[in-house]
Amino acid sequence: MYALMNAKIRLYVEHPLGAGQSVPLNRDQAHYLFGVMRLTVGGAVALFNGRDGEWQATVAKAGKRGGVLALNTQSAPLQMPPDLWLLFAPIKKARTDFIVEKAAEMGAARIVPVQTDFTNSERVRQDRLQAHAVEAAEQCGATFVPEVTGLQKLDRILADWPEGRQLMFCDEAAIGAPSGMADIAATHSAKPWAILIGPEGGFSDAERTRLRALPFTHIISLGPRILRADTAVVAAITLWQHALGDWQQ
Ligand code: SAH
Repeated sequence: MYALMNAKIRLYVEHPLGAGQSVPLNRDQAHYLFGVMRLTVGGAVALFNGRDGEWQATVAKAGKRGGVLALNTQSAPLQMPPDLWLLFAPIKKARTDFIVEKAAEMGAARIVPVQTDFTNSERVRQDRLQAHAVEAAEQCGATFVPEVTGLQKLDRILADWPEGRQLMFCDEAAIGAPSGMADIAATHSAKPWAILIGPEGGFSDAERTRLRALPFTHIISLGPRILRADTAVVAAITLWQHALGDWQQ
């Protein structure tokens, strides 16, 4: 019943959210709320900004190029995802969009496109991918939006690796081996983590040798079949969330 009382439309804004605040709308937001969703003055919207939880708001002014929302009450506190980064090698555009959307829905805290030896795309549209993460958060009820970084070289990230963060290296060369997740879950629970998924061409021998030698790396198999990179992302986050993340709470 609680959910029914809250606004069905959720909108991400950058403005601070708090009691008594009013939030100005830009042209795109006004178009979405009043043009697409047909809201009028007095209509209800739920707002979040990734920092202040979710707030119920009412349309105070509605125009073609802007508008104002008045905040009522907080309907949910900020809920942070676990400290999990997803590192993935970007693939074709639609599949990369899918990866970002699914990682945001499933509870990654940071999404990092990485350039590996066999990565085809040299560039990613960071703003587009970030917009996909925002949309995913709007539709799945999240109050946090993961940051999507620009493309980073795998070598560089590994060289600057943060102290204490563990890396789940999904290695297609481990295909068919036991996943290895149970051992990890038993020994490494309360740490920050990252998952690494390679491109369609997989990892090079040089990358595999380097990754396997790093002290923070844990090799994981995703079963006896070769998964496409986008499937591998969903499978790996599922495994991690189930064993170590916020699905076990
Ligand atoms: N072209 C490669 C497969 C790449 S699949 C080959 O033929 O071997 C894309 C990525 O998904 C891989 O780099 C790996 O990170 C992940 N992946 C896919 N299937 C996997 C499996 N069974 N175990 C572990 N990782 C897997």
